[in-house]
Amino acid sequence: MTPPETITSLQNARIKAIRALAERGERAAAGRFVAEGVANFDSARRAGWTPVSVVHQADGLDPSEAELLTWASSAGADLLPATPAVLVKLTGRTNPPRLLGVFPRRSEPLPAKAEVRPDALWLALEGVRDPGNLGTIVRTADAFGVAGVILVGACVDPTAPVAVQAAMGSLFQVRLTVATDAGFADWLTAWQGAVVGTHLAAAHDIRQLKPSGPVLLLMGSEGAGLSQQLMARCTILTRIPQRAEVDSLNLAIATGIALYALRAARL
Ligand code: SAM
Repeated sequence: MTPPETITSLQNARIKAIRALAERGERAAAGRFVAEGVANFDSARRAGWTPVSVVHQADGLDPSEAELLTWASSAGADLLPATPAVLVKLTGRTNPPRLLGVFPRRSEPLPAKAEVRPDALWLALEGVRDPGNLGTIVRTADAFGVAGVILVGACVDPTAPVAVQAAMGSLFQVRLTVATDAGFADWLTAWQGAVVGTHLAAAHDIRQLKPSGPVLLLMGSEGAGLSQQLMARCTILTRIPQRAEVDSLNLAIATGIALYALRAARL
């Protein structure tokens, strides 16, 4: 079989289509997103995801990159060799990764009762807007063994380039659900466990939490915090102690602290 020709131009139709995936609407329409570099490919492979296509530097791959390329090809991915200049333009980086994969987007359904283990910690984020925060949270949730992350309402796209980059491969490992406000509220009625909401003004100190049974941790949005509707559904509202002079903690930092508080004893 003749090897595919090296792509040298950004005007190549396949490259143009991949470049367009930087836009949320295009990702939604195509049902695909881009993840770059060895860490993402490794993680995708471990989690059973396969790329649809891979743009890769035509020469000079190191052995681990070449091995990942062989895996992707044998899993059915189209290989698109390109010049370094095309990879620079495609990624917008002066020192781009030599592998870039186009992956199918997935969203898992809200978990059924039988899927919620008695000791599980689930995380729901209401209206998260910042892709860097979301990616960092997905990475942290993966590190602390969270069973799944649920995005509630108008949230940033977890497959946005900045989110994918910040998640550092964890996007492939963590069970992610995108839910509407109404769908989540409905599902919550059948939740059998604690619902722990976080709020700056709560009287309860998170260090006193003694979670037992399944726990659902709720985090509010960067701007407005948790909505009144979701606060009303919490079995407890808790606060991470901080100096009053500081407005609040960054959402990703607060999530990391809350997850640690709920999970530390098991790590
Ligand atoms: N203006 C918002 C408010 O008053 O709720 C601040 C939102 S804060 C940037 C984003 C989210 O991080 C909050 O909804 C909450 O879930 C969490 N958070 C931040 N600081 C916190 C703290 N000290 N204690 C508990 N949760 C906190």
